[in-house]
Amino acid sequence: QPRQPLLPNTAASRLGILGGGQLGRMFAHAAQAMGYQVAVLEPEAACPAAQVAEHHVQLAYDDEQGLALLSRLAPRVTTEFENVPADSLKLLATGGFVAPAAACVSIAQDRLAEKHFFTRCGLHTGVYPAPHWGIASEEDLKSVNDDLLPGILKTTRMGYDGKGQVRVRNREELHTAYALMQGHCVLEKMLPLAYEVSVLVARGVDGEAVVYPIAENVHRDGILFTTLAPSPNVSPEVARQAQKAALDIIAELGYVGVLCIEFFVLTDGSIVVNEMAPRPHNSGHYTMDACDTSQFEQQVRALAQLPLGSVRQHSAAAMLNILGDVWFDGERQREPAWDRILAIPGAHLHLYGKAEARRARKMGHVTFVASSMELARANLRSACVILG
Ligand code: ADP
Ligand code: MG
Repeated sequence: QPRQPLLPNTAASRLGILGGGQLGRMFAHAAQAMGYQVAVLEPEAACPAAQVAEHHVQLAYDDEQGLALLSRLAPRVTTEFENVPADSLKLLATGGFVAPAAACVSIAQDRLAEKHFFTRCGLHTGVYPAPHWGIASEEDLKSVNDDLLPGILKTTRMGYDGKGQVRVRNREELHTAYALMQGHCVLEKMLPLAYEVSVLVARGVDGEAVVYPIAENVHRDGILFTTLAPSPNVSPEVARQAQKAALDIIAELGYVGVLCIEFFVLTDGSIVVNEMAPRPHNSGHYTMDACDTSQFEQQVRALAQLPLGSVRQHSAAAMLNILGDVWFDGERQREPAWDRILAIPGAHLHLYGKAEARRARKMGHVTFVASSMELARANLRSACVILG
């Protein structure tokens, strides 16, 4: 399909977004910098994206009037979170251009559909998901093969940041866990992970695709803690394999926009594809300060059907997520010492404008860029000491 660019700086240069969180806010910043106005559909009042967007439609994601209004305001619409109702994207697509498409987002919303899709892609990527089995009833537990245990039972829908999943060592624990979770789940074999990486890819309507360097992720309590890019552990061979798999997956999906794919690197050096997020991703925030084109600018380019930007990384980067926890000193609440963080060389602070700091809530991130990964990492460690 040939590109039909929506050029910046005209009366019609407006981009719409479903969702008003921090990803929407950073998308809006990128869009505005390039000469677009932004319209946000989000039921919450003072959300991160509505603080910066020109237009805020304060209605539910599935409100037909809200969707119609968003469509009128913006001829091109994207989403900043993956659990947006697929029907909303379909409805919007009747009035304008929507990327990513409902069909792609639907696959990413369902772990089992996602695994089936990855398995199909495996035929040419050579990269497969973890051994798994779909469970939709107590009855299905009987058909679970012994070699999937120990494993992780995950809900097929709505899981994120390690929520909606339980580790089970044996059949007894599997039964107990399923009795609590109910509904549609998938049991995955527990794999020996060496480390975890993610690959950010982007594709335009014309099929042009780009892939960013491999980022390495460390989670704490299920939430992303740090991202190092380029991954210090990955071998050139594994990097090539993961990047090729990511490009194959995005092409096979016929996806338009930015897509993030998580992989596990196992102790034997082989790789397994875990899940994908149909949007810019927390592990791609380093691109804002360390690459020629940030993941948010890339999303703007794909949505506006402009040429994709260069994915060259010009600096080593270490990103630290800032959770609400750092506002708490025991019972006492205090503002973190941002002046001390910003005194560290190569520090780039990003705060999301959330009024209330809560534990485990993503409040911002800071990326340290440097001429080497050793330096970037050392600076990240200094920040950890300051934040406590
Ligand atoms: P979420 O949607 O919460 O990110 P994930 O499927 O990515 O869910 O799982 C969260 C974390 O649990 C992963 O980052 C990884 O550390 C661990 N994990 C998930 N699946 C497996 C597995 N099959 N084997 C070993 N560890 C796993
Ligand atoms: Mg994950």
